[in-house]
Amino acid sequence: MSRYRVTILIGALAVLCHAQSAIAAADAAVLAAAEACEPYARALLQRLVSIDSGTANVAGLDDLSSTLLPELERLGATVQRVPSTVPGLADSLLATWTGTGRGRILLIAHMDTVFLPGVAAERPYRVDGNRGIGPGAGDDKQGIVTGLCALRALREIGFRDYGRIALILNSNEETGSTGSRELIRAEAAASDVALNLERGVPPDGVVVARKGSAKMNIEITGRAAHSGLEPEQGRNAVVEAAHQILAMGEAREDHRGDVGKDERQGDVGDDFMRLFQLLASRLADDPGEGAGLLIAAIDHEPGDDRRGKKDEQ
Ligand SMILES: [Zn+2]
Repeated sequence: MSRYRVTILIGALAVLCHAQSAIAAADAAVLAAAEACEPYARALLQRLVSIDSGTANVAGLDDLSSTLLPELERLGATVQRVPSTVPGLADSLLATWTGTGRGRILLIAHMDTVFLPGVAAERPYRVDGNRGIGPGAGDDKQGIVTGLCALRALREIGFRDYGRIALILNSNEETGSTGSRELIRAEAAASDVALNLERGVPPDGVVVARKGSAKMNIEITGRAAHSGLEPEQGRNAVVEAAHQILAMGEAREDHRGDVGKDERQGDVGDDFMRLFQLLASRLADDPGEGAGLLIAAIDHEPGDDRRGKKDEQ
């Protein structure tokens, strides 16, 4: 938990809500309120990290929500549990505060981690120097704590010159927010500005752009032919898949991703192949746009069959 980060966030909220001239006067009070939050922040981070909350761990995420809900209500929030739009994922939380001003601010953090049940006990929370360390401490339980400290500080200094602040605590960010993207889209559309509470890299920096991600499913259909009698008639989907994988690897670094065999591939012949590509794009606001660029980069005409020509030689 970084005091500086909390200060930056609260400063950002103040910038959004305040006239320029009022910022300097507010700083000392904001800083003092942020510093006063440190013991609470450290204790809360430890509590959150001690609860396993991998994306598939619905019971753990429910436990985390139940821990956070009263904390949010104590800060004057109206809190809703928002069910996932796809089955098998935990509820997200939406906390809102209504102020007396005009600015509409969205804060986003996520409750889920990439860790399996039991890891919180195997690698318990510990403090190393000034840092709290444990599974999910950085990604993104510190983000939850940062948001709560910012809101606590605003409450402490009596700052209500905003129209609305919404805080989404997402239950399924690590798998692409499939169950919460409608919620995020709706709240973003209803806000003037959104601040994502993921940590900065390098630490304590303010990050102004992040990667998006998209998953593409690629199906390749070849043509079966007898390898002894008419090999020239065949088009081998596995070979084409290899071509596509290599082409993806050569694609621009800005939108490169991971490629693998789709688990639905099953036991099929050489004339059909399923792949997936997990794409991380720095280029586009909409990862789908990055996916489109990648498809353009690796696409080739069906008739332009290089390996087919090689097979005939
Ligand atoms: Zn994250």
